[in-house]
Amino acid sequence: MAFILLRTFDNSIEAHLLKSKLESEGIECYIFHENTATLTPIAIGAISFKVYQKDFPKAYEIMMEMQRLVPKDKNGNIICCPECHASKLIIIKRKQKNQFKGFFGKIRSFFNSHEISVVVCEGCKKEFDPSDLS
Ligand SMILES: [Zn+2]
Repeated sequence: MAFILLRTFDNSIEAHLLKSKLESEGIECYIFHENTATLTPIAIGAISFKVYQKDFPKAYEIMMEMQRLVPKDKNGNIICCPECHASKLIIIKRKQKNQFKGFFGKIRSFFNSHEISVVVCEGCKKEFDPSDLS
């Protein structure tokens, strides 16, 4: 039975969170290169997280479910999409684009890489800035 890559991680804490979640759902999964990533500071996406091919669709679904965050206003009400008015907005995390140029810029980006939140509507697929909605 073949292993396939579910996703990569930059740090092992997140990888283990997903592992315990998947295992609680009865899905076998394996973390590769965990030690390399812990020892090397420049190891973005170095940890491979693999599952059996047959489990991939379910594992993927659970992973997406774990990452799913719904934007709410300050009263705790779910915010609807300003475009299509569906309550299908989700917050996703995305690596910020490389803002530094050149070779040294690449190195700087490794150390300055951080995730930004983007709100996406699953209905109309439009993207919004979280600060525009709250
Ligand atoms: Zn929409």
